Amino acid sequence: MINTKEIQAIDSAHYMHPFTDHKSLSDKGSRIITKADGIYIWDSTGEKILDAMSGLWCVNVGYGRKELVDAAAKQMLELPYYNSFFQTTNVPAVKLAEKIIKLAGDDYSHVFFSSSGSESNDTNVRMVRHYWATLGQPERTVIISRNNAYHGSTLVGSSLGGMGGMHAQGGMISGIEHIEQPYHYGMAPNQDRDAFGIEAAGWLEKKILEVGADKVAAFIGEPVQGAGGVIIPPKTYWPEIQRICDKYGILLICDEVICGFGRLGKWFGSQLLGCKPDLMTFAKGVTSGYIPLGGVVVGKRVAKVLIEQGGEFNHGYTYSGHPTACAVALANIEIMEREGLVDKVLNETGPYLAQKYAELAKHPLVGGAETLGLVAGFVLMKDKSNHVHFDEEVGVGMICRGHCFANGLIMRAVGDRMIIAPPLVITKVQIDEMVALIQKCLDATLADLKKQGIM
Ligand SMILES: *Cc1c(COP(=O)(O)O)cnc(C)c1O
Repeated sequence: MINTKEIQAIDSAHYMHPFTDHKSLSDKGSRIITKADGIYIWDSTGEKILDAMSGLWCVNVGYGRKELVDAAAKQMLELPYYNSFFQTTNVPAVKLAEKIIKLAGDDYSHVFFSSSGSESNDTNVRMVRHYWATLGQPERTVIISRNNAYHGSTLVGSSLGGMGGMHAQGGMISGIEHIEQPYHYGMAPNQDRDAFGIEAAGWLEKKILEVGADKVAAFIGEPVQGAGGVIIPPKTYWPEIQRICDKYGILLICDEVICGFGRLGKWFGSQLLGCKPDLMTFAKGVTSGYIPLGGVVVGKRVAKVLIEQGGEFNHGYTYSGHPTACAVALANIEIMEREGLVDKVLNETGPYLAQKYAELAKHPLVGGAETLGLVAGFVLMKDKSNHVHFDEEVGVGMICRGHCFANGLIMRAVGDRMIIAPPLVITKVQIDEMVALIQKCLDATLADLKKQGIM
């Protein structure tokens, strides 16, 4: 048995956590997660928790999959590590690159590997700038991104991202511009959704003209913004973004770190949302989070130039094409294919979740409930019929998250938005269980707000 108090004390003394206010954490003590199986995790007090966030959007095939462990063990005994620098390669990296290209489709030819989403977006920035320099247009350096985007936490990742709190600590790299996000419910709920999608995409064209088309290298966006609060764009948005990128010859990068590997019911989110990015960032779901791996799927347009004219690309990571990580990814994709998980999200569990969220939308606190595949979100509203939000000081998202914590449910709060992204193996019965828990936590939140005199 784990001594919770003792581990918490050591945790507080020595372990600096990511994205954490340590002063407030040490008063409470961390929750210690000790084991997991399927869609559930357990903490050190023995409490069972439904993990509706798949860890951090990554445990697509669920916890406790022995096949992934076996794939890692087998590879580690044979060749645990070797690099791909200096004209060497390894079999799992080669096979995984081939597999990912098959899943991505005919427009893609190569894969560059890293160990995370952040690193992969660093690779993207270097790759697109190198691409334009190779074509004799070195002044094309600007990358346009969006407010409230999340592209990782390295300096390049946070610069590409649109989170003010991250920019404020450590600054930004130069040459990154931001446009507003396509958040229909939050920005223009009374406007026609599809018309708003066209208008929001038009902000890209405005920015391109402001910066100068001959200075813009690429546009980057998540098909569905994840960490920004599951912002599902109108269906008109991505085709219009594609049209604008094509018009000015600008490269399109889709950050598929969350949407890739089945989350939206296709292998890549862009395949569902109607665009053909030149580069796709992946990480998280590629190994279901069992071992770190990320990378960039490179389209033929970029690959051809880099390979035929680019010379040596002075970029790479010690762990690029890590054989053990690649072996786990291959086993993970094999499970997804064998169990038909991507089609199941598209045709069965995704539509079922949408139906359940339509019921949840009747709750007095719930505004703008939306789902796509197995991501979903809504915003907690004070008076939704008049579109009145809670005051920021109320911290209603944190209140709701507290009730989730107390009721055995991991649901994430982003401001006043409550979001989920459950493992792709979740069954309809488990979706019922999850939505019943959400309902219970919403009722508890409502009672709490009434008791405090906020509602
Ligand atoms: C998580 C995430 C990243 C960063 O990935 P890390 O592996 O944490 O570096 C980048 N982009 C998106 C869309 C993400 O969700």
